[in-house]
Amino acid sequence: MSDTKYIFVTGGVTSSLGKGIIAASLAKLLQARGYRTTIQKLDPYINVDPGTLNPYEHGECYVTDDGAETDLDLGHYERFLNVRTSQANNVTTGRIYQSVIEKERRGEFLGKTVQVVPHITNEIKERIQILGNSGDYDIIITEIGGTVGDIESLPYIEAVRQLLWELGEHNGIVIHLTLVPFLSAAGELKTKPTQHSVKTLMESGIKADILVCRTEHNISEDIKEKLALFCNVRKEAVIQSIDASTIYDVPLLMQEEGLDTVTLEKLALPNDTEPNLDQWKEFLNRHKNPKDKVTIGLIGKYVELPDSYKSIQEAFIHAGAANEVDVEVKSIHSEHLTAKNIDKKLKGLDGILVAPGFGERGIEGKVNAVKYARENNIPFLGICLGMQMAVIEFARTVLGLDKSNSTEMDKETPDPVISLMEEQKSITDMGGTMRLGSWDCHLKEGSLVEQVYGSSDIEERHRHRYEFNNKYKEQMEEAGLVASGLNPKTGLVEVVEIPSHPWFVGVQYHPEYKSTVASPHPLFVGFVKAVLTHKQKQNNASLA
Ligand code: GLN
Repeated sequence: MSDTKYIFVTGGVTSSLGKGIIAASLAKLLQARGYRTTIQKLDPYINVDPGTLNPYEHGECYVTDDGAETDLDLGHYERFLNVRTSQANNVTTGRIYQSVIEKERRGEFLGKTVQVVPHITNEIKERIQILGNSGDYDIIITEIGGTVGDIESLPYIEAVRQLLWELGEHNGIVIHLTLVPFLSAAGELKTKPTQHSVKTLMESGIKADILVCRTEHNISEDIKEKLALFCNVRKEAVIQSIDASTIYDVPLLMQEEGLDTVTLEKLALPNDTEPNLDQWKEFLNRHKNPKDKVTIGLIGKYVELPDSYKSIQEAFIHAGAANEVDVEVKSIHSEHLTAKNIDKKLKGLDGILVAPGFGERGIEGKVNAVKYARENNIPFLGICLGMQMAVIEFARTVLGLDKSNSTEMDKETPDPVISLMEEQKSITDMGGTMRLGSWDCHLKEGSLVEQVYGSSDIEERHRHRYEFNNKYKEQMEEAGLVASGLNPKTGLVEVVEIPSHPWFVGVQYHPEYKSTVASPHPLFVGFVKAVLTHKQKQNNASLA
């Protein structure tokens, strides 16, 4: 067994407590002390991956360099740690069963009855240890999705119990995240739900080493003592996690509470160095003290649930801090945008982003939004479907191909400016069959994007099936929509821009996945900068 140390993060009382943010914050503190740290998420649902899930279910589907479609918590891990994740960082029940069943079909279990214990639990244990055995990390934080006591998380809890026993003392610990609710009628914080969830964990043979208690009010010393006594942990191991104004405050709040110190003590690791969080604090300082403000419209169809566009929202926070400007992202439902009401709905926006998406719902609204941005010289960024809509709008309005469309929306269109690649045509399985993960892209010399990236060769992550149809490339370029980024191997168009417009860029890939606190994405930084310039120009014009 390797020397890697394991931290398991479980959740009690209720879901949505923010286990991902706590795990990412602890990882940040450990990384800032020099420990090579990564995080893994185990999801108890039966989908093989979240790629086939509607964003309304679990929010955005996050994509890694290696093309894994994963839980959005992996986005937080990358944004906090600036370390790339991969397929190994996200495991679902679907994937576990798929792999065990495939082994059974190959006869690998030598005639044995295949059961939840030990076969499913062994598979879970193996998946947890893959990252540890790579030798790349000192500490692995494994977040168990769901809430203890759920039927579906039982095999995970049993796998953790076995692993803790096998790893031995100080090599594996459990952090249990709970809720300490405030009852306004009684005027009190209540500890009972936490006591019950710790008890549920104990019934499965697991003792929590550290309690992180989510709360809306400060937890007094008395309550900490009570929680410690009844939950069988030391008082220093009862950590308050109070609501924060931004998720980026949480690492510092956890440091104040001593989460990293108590974690290192429990793992018998030296804790004498102070975490170096200078860069993090500088980012926070810029984020909290903006010198100006801009409003960007996010045109999408899943806007009711902010988590649907999580990475885009976070990329704007990073780019805002880089430009020392507060970016207000105004979500606008594309289904409600018509040629008639567009002026009213988009008036006052300093920039427009048309979001990624699938299917027909709301696309005409997106086309209208592109047209508005293009004709009014408003800085525009189109991502994936947003780029495709920009191409369609250009074909319809400028080239006069008024029935042009993507074959995703209209199979019979006479002008399929966005269409399927030959390889995609025979695919019937929906899971994991899109163009996924990191692809090279070469940027045209002298283009806006080349200037924005400060480089002509980039790698970006994809998640789509449809592509720019190269048959229309020449015609589009002659009319002023330039293909300024190409895949060097296939010639597929990855970026389009309009040089006669102040800032109009459409990208077939998803830049938002790669933006982190330490390294804000150049395209978002450039876009926000252009938006700010546009706003200042408008202000000056109205003053003149
Ligand atoms: N639906 C489009 C496609 O599959 C765009 C996907 C996206 O925006 N991620 O090509």
